[in-house]
Order: sequence, then structure tokens, then C-alpha cells
Amino acid sequence: MSQTRRQYGRRCSWCFKQGHNKRTCPSYTAHLKRVAEKHGGHSLVMYVKRTGEMPDGSKPTGELAAVKETAKKASKRRCSWCVKMRMVGEGYGHNRRTCPHRKTWHADQTRDSRELRQSILNRAEALGVGMGSLVLAKKYVYNGNGFDWQKVVGMVVKVDWDAIDTTRLKGKPIITVRWQNLPATERYTATEEDFAIPRSWIPEDIAKRGWNLGQDSLKMLGKSSNPLATCPKDWVDRPITLCEPA
Ligand SMILES: [Zn+2]
Ligand SMILES: [Zn+2]
Repeated sequence: MSQTRRQYGRRCSWCFKQGHNKRTCPSYTAHLKRVAEKHGGHSLVMYVKRTGEMPDGSKPTGELAAVKETAKKASKRRCSWCVKMRMVGEGYGHNRRTCPHRKTWHADQTRDSRELRQSILNRAEALGVGMGSLVLAKKYVYNGNGFDWQKVVGMVVKVDWDAIDTTRLKGKPIITVRWQNLPATERYTATEEDFAIPRSWIPEDIAKRGWNLGQDSLKMLGKSSNPLATCPKDWVDRPITLCEPA
């Protein structure tokens, strides 16, 4: 193996990027699509063979349907990641383990998760937000005669640090709050409750990428003297087990 091969590994002969070959190259597929749309004929047959679809995403009919069937038989493998993520015309000729799109997804999410963690760390140090912080919530509680909205104070008693990443910002329980002053008559609220990551912990550039990230039902009241009490020392840099789309 040449020095270059050893240093850089597999490279695509079409786009020269690493991690895939021309057979699975998304940029070559896109190129074929443009040519097929413009000229039809042989390039259209090649496109249908490669993707199993017409350039507009519809099912091939007539002669082209036959082309598609032959191509399907020749390459039965289809990547489950690409199918799930609805990568148009992708997924043929590779599998989930070797999927270039999945690799890119992991690299992006890991990078963003590290940014998220660093930002939470900075906030914890500057504002005392984290383990031991006092929080305030409005809760619908039973006061002896009926139900009533009351302000309840709680303390953050647990942070699931390793579950904090950009793939779990929608509703996944991250912090546990122990309520301090629930009315003695209240029977329906547990002393401890889990909450998703507070919206205020999510940096702006990450927050604006999705709707419904985090929660804002808890108002941070008080600084903690040791907000990173249970946080692993290598939290930002340690390997992150991402939650892949189900
Ligand atoms: Zn390529
Ligand atoms: Zn794939």
C-alpha cells in the first residue's frame, strides 16, 4: 500500500472524499440525477439502476421498471439507515455499518454535543446552575378542599450527565427535582420528579435548529455552591453514546 493510501485510507474516485467509494457516492448520484433529468436515455437508465427511482422520486414504469427490478436483484443490500432517514435514492450498495450518511450524522451530533456540554459547564461555573440548584415550579396540587395552582420550591438532586447530548433534547428525562414544600394534603405529586433538560441550558445556535427542545417549566431560583458535584471530569471529551433515530 502506498504512503498516501496508508495515511488517508479509502477515498472516493469521484469526489475524493474519504469514507465511501464512487458506487456509494452521494455527489455522483446527484450528478447522475442532473444528467438524467437533462438528457434521459442511457443516463436515465443508469440513474434508475443506481437508485431504483426516477429523478423526481416516482416509481419507474414500463421498460425502466424492468431495469429497476434487475438492479434490485443485483444489489439486494439496502441500507436501513438511509431507508429510515429517507435519503432520496440512497441506500443501495452499502449497509448500515458502512453508511456514509450515518457516519456524517454521528460526527455532526458528537461535535454539537461537545459544544452543548461545554456550554452547560461554562454556565454551571458562572451561574451555579446544576446539582443542588433551587428551582421554582407552578404545580396543580390538592390543598385539602380542592385543586389549586401553587408555587413549589425544589432542589435538583440528580443530573444524568451522560444522557446530555443533542440527540436527547426532546423530552428525555435528564434532571431529578426533589420538592421541598408540597402541601401536606397533596397526594398526586411524587416527592421527586424527572424533567427534561431546561431550555435555558441549550445554546442558542443548537436551540434554533429544532422545535420543542428542552422544557421551561422550572424557574432557576438559587445558585448551587457545587453545581458540577457529580459531573465526570472528562465529561466534554469522553465518548458519547448517541441516541440514533428510532
Ligand atoms: Zn464521493
Ligand atoms: Zn446508508
